[in-house]
Amino acid sequence: MAGTRNAMRAVRVFEFGGPEVLKLQSNVSIPVPNENEVLIKVHACGVNPVETYIRSGNYARKPALPYTPGSDVAGVIEGVGEHVTAFKKGDRVFSTGTVSGGYAEYALAAANRVFPLSDKLDFRQGAAIGIPYFTAYRALIQKGRAKAGESVLVHGASGGVGIATCQIARACGLKVLGTAGTVEGMDVVLRNGAHQAFNHREANYVDKIKEYTGMEGLDVIIEMLSNINLTTDLQLLSYGGRVMVVGCRGSIEINPRDTMSKESTITGVSLFLATEEEMQDCARAVLDGIEAGWLKPLVGSEYPLEKVVQAHEDIMHNSGARGKMVLLP
Ligand code: NAP
Repeated sequence: MAGTRNAMRAVRVFEFGGPEVLKLQSNVSIPVPNENEVLIKVHACGVNPVETYIRSGNYARKPALPYTPGSDVAGVIEGVGEHVTAFKKGDRVFSTGTVSGGYAEYALAAANRVFPLSDKLDFRQGAAIGIPYFTAYRALIQKGRAKAGESVLVHGASGGVGIATCQIARACGLKVLGTAGTVEGMDVVLRNGAHQAFNHREANYVDKIKEYTGMEGLDVIIEMLSNINLTTDLQLLSYGGRVMVVGCRGSIEINPRDTMSKESTITGVSLFLATEEEMQDCARAVLDGIEAGWLKPLVGSEYPLEKVVQAHEDIMHNSGARGKMVLLP
C-alpha cells in the first residue's frame, strides 16, 4: 500500500478550539482500507465552512479526538478493500465524505462516497464538487423544487455553494440572480450562470433587486447568510415563494406576518440529513452535469497543507470570495 511508505503528512486536531488547533504532522500512519473502503492519494481537498464549526467544538456533530478534517478530496485510488469492485488502483476520483479525513496526503473513504472524476476536470476542481454541488442540488431541486421558468436569487453566490447553485439553476432553465461582495465576485457570478449580479455590500442593493424583479418577486431564494438576510428575503419573494436556509451564523428577528401576505415558505436545508437515495440522486445530477459540460467547479483560493491555519482563518473572515477554497497536500 502506498509503495514502501507507511507514514504521511496529515493535519490533526487534538482539542477543539480556534484555527491554531490544526496541527500538521509528518508521521501519521497511512490507513488501510476495510472491505468496503478505498484509499485515495489526495491531490486536493476542499475547505468548507462547516469544518471550522466542527473544529471549534460548537457544532452538533463532534468527531472523536484526535481527528483529521476534510470530506471533499480529489485524487487517485491507491488501494481498495476486498469487496470494492467499482474502483481500481490508478482511477481518478472525487469524494463527498471520508473516513480518515481529507486534509492529508492519503484519505480513506467508503466506496459509496467516491465517484469517478472526469478527465474534463482537474484535481482542484474535483475537490470543489462534494459539499458545494450536493448542497446546491439539495437546496434548489430536492427541497426547493425549483422549476424551469422560475426565478432564483442566490444570496451569496460567489463562494463554493453559490457558484454551484448558479450553474445548476442556469442549466435547469431558471432566471438566475446572484449576489457577491465585490465587483470581481459579481463578475465571477455572471460568468457562472447568473443573468444579473448585485453587490450585497452596497447600501441600496435590495432596492436594485426589487427594481429588477418588479411586481413579480422571486420564486426561490437560496440563502447563504440567513441571520443577516432573512427579513429582507421575505420581502423579495413572489406569491408562494420559498426561502431555502443554507447558511446561518446567528439569530435574526422576523415578523411571521411577512410569510402570510404571500403564503411564503422558509425551509432549512441540511446535506447531512440527505438519505442514501437522495445522495445518489445528487450524484447522478452532478455526474450528468460534468458530462454535459455545464458543471465546471471554479477554484478560488489555494493553500498548501502548511497554511491550513490561515485557510480556516480566511474562509470565516475574508470577504470577496471568487470560487471554492482548496488545500493542496
Ligand atoms: P464560502 O465559499 O465561504 O462563501 C461564502 C459566501 O457568502 C460568499 O459568496 C460571500 O460573498 C457570501 N456572503 C458574505 N456576506 C454575505 C451577505 N451579507 N449576504 C449574502 N451572502 C454573503 O462558503 P460556502 O461553502 O459557499 O457556504 C456558504 C454557507 O452555507 C456557509 O455558511 C456554510 O456553512 C453553509 N453551508 C450549509 C450547508 C447545509 O447543508 N445547510 C452545506 C454547505 C454549506 P463575498 O465573499 O463575495 O462577500
